Amino acid sequence: MDELSHHSSRMSAVQQFDVIVLGAGISGLVAASIFSAQGNRVVVVDEYDHVGGNHMDWSSDEGYTFDVGSLIFQDDSPLLRHFPELLEHYVPIKPTWGRLNPQGKITVYPISIRDDILGAGPIGVIRIFASVLYARIFCRHMANARDFARYWIGAYLLHRSGLGTYMRRFYGISAEEIDLDLARKRMLWIAEYASLINLMRRLVKRKRATGPKNRQMARPKEGFGALYAAAVSRLESCGVVFKLSAEMRQLHKSEDGYELLLNDESLAGGRVVSTVPINVAERMCGNGQASALKTITLITLYFSFAGERGFPQSIIYNFSHDGSWKRLTVYSDFYGRVVEREYFAVEVIAGAVVTAEEAEADFRYHVCANGLFSGDLKLEGSHILSNAYPIYSKGAAQNAAQAIARLKSFGIESIGRQGGFNYQPTARVSTIDVETAIATP
Ligand SMILES: Cc1cc2nc3c(=O)[nH]c(=O)nc-3n(C[C@H](O)[C@H](O)[C@H](O)COP(=O)(O)OP(=O)(O)OC[C@H]3O[C@@H](n4cnc5c(N)ncnc54)[C@H](O)[C@@H]3O)c2cc1C
Repeated sequence: MDELSHHSSRMSAVQQFDVIVLGAGISGLVAASIFSAQGNRVVVVDEYDHVGGNHMDWSSDEGYTFDVGSLIFQDDSPLLRHFPELLEHYVPIKPTWGRLNPQGKITVYPISIRDDILGAGPIGVIRIFASVLYARIFCRHMANARDFARYWIGAYLLHRSGLGTYMRRFYGISAEEIDLDLARKRMLWIAEYASLINLMRRLVKRKRATGPKNRQMARPKEGFGALYAAAVSRLESCGVVFKLSAEMRQLHKSEDGYELLLNDESLAGGRVVSTVPINVAERMCGNGQASALKTITLITLYFSFAGERGFPQSIIYNFSHDGSWKRLTVYSDFYGRVVEREYFAVEVIAGAVVTAEEAEADFRYHVCANGLFSGDLKLEGSHILSNAYPIYSKGAAQNAAQAIARLKSFGIESIGRQGGFNYQPTARVSTIDVETAIATP
C-alpha cells in the first residue's frame, strides 16, 4: 500500500470545495473573498497557526508588541473593499522617515539636496554634476540596478548618498547583480527625482496640492490578531472554511479536480490557487524539478530603550557604508511608551551576520558609533524569517516564470508575493495583483 492510499484509508470522508486557496496571508484572504463572492465554496489552508501570513507580531510579558516588518497601511487601500471592518482596528499615525547617511548624519529620506549635494562642498558639487553628465552621455546602456541608478544620479552621488550600499543591504546582493526590470519598478523614484522635466512638473503639482489624500494607519497596538480575526469572521460568515496549522503533505489530481492531503484529513477542490512560496507548492505536487529561487532571510531584533535618542523620526533607514541593519521603526512613537521605555524593531538582512546574536552585536556597535542611542538599550526578543522576500538577481524573474508555468501545467495557479515571486511592497499592491490575477483567465 503506497503512502497515499494508506493515508486515504485512515481519513474521514474527503471534504468537497470549489476552490482550495493555499496560504492565509493578504493574497490568500483576498483570493478567498473574491471566490466566495462569486458563490464558490472556498477552503483556505495554511501551515502557519495564524491568518495574515508574514504579518507576524511578537509580544513580551512586559507589554511590548513588535512585528517582523509590516506595520503601515492606508485608509484608501483596496484591501478595505474586501474587508471594510479592518479600518476601525487600525491606529491612525503620522510617520516620519529619516536616513543615516555615510557621513554619519540623520537626514532626509531618500535623498537630501542640502546634505548629499550641497554638503559635498564646491568641489564635491562639481564632481556630482560632472559624474551625472558623464553617466548621461557615456553610460546609456543599462544591464543592472547599478547601471540604472548611476545613469540617473551619477556614480559619485550614488556612493556619497549611500544609495548603492543600501541597495546591497536591501536586496541581499550587490547592485550589479540586481535585475534591471526590478530596478526600473522599485527605483522609479530615482528617475523621477533626477529628471529635470519631472522636477518642474512636481514643483507645479506641489503648488496645486491640497494635502495628503490618504491617512497612514498602523496595525492595532496589541498586534495583528484582532485585525485579521475581523477578516476571518467576515469570510466564515460567507461560508469560507479555514484550516490553520495544517501540514500540506501532498496535492494530486483526481477525477473531478484536485485532492490535498493534510495530516489527518483530505480536501477536494476543482481549482487550486497557491499563495505560498513556490518551492513549498512544488514539493506538494511532487514536482521533482524544484526551482533554485533564492529568498531573503530577515532577522528582526526587538529592543526597548530608556535614554537619549539621537533622531526625531519614527523610521530610520541605514544608508551608511557600515552596519548590517537596514531599517528601524520606533513603535512607541505610534502607541506610546511601555513602563516609561521606548521600543522599536530593527530589520537586518541575513548575510554578513547570520544569528540574532551577531545582528545585535553589529547593531549595538554601529548605533553607538553614530550616536543614535545613548542610554539603556535592552534586547527584548528576536525573530528569524526565511522566505521574507525574493532575491531579484539577474535571471531570477525567468526562473520564477518557468517554475510558475510548471505549477500551472500541473493545475496550480501560483500568485501573490510568495507564489508569484513578486515585488509587492505593500498590502495594497498584493490586493491589486490578486484581483488582476483572478480576473485574468
Ligand atoms: C519586511 C517587510 C515589511 C513590509 N512592510 C509593509 C508595510 O509596512 N505595509 C504594507 O502594506 N506592506 C508591507 N509589506 C508587504 C506585505 O507584507 C505583503 O505585500 C503581503 O504580506 C504579501 O502577502 P502574501 O499573502 O502574498 O504573502 P506572505 O504573507 O508573505 O505569505 C503567504 C503565505 O505563504 C506561506 N509562507 C510564507 N513564508 C513562508 C515560509 N518561510 N515557509 C513556509 N511558508 C511560508 C505562509 O503560508 C503564508 O501565509 C512588507 C513586507 C516585508 C517582507
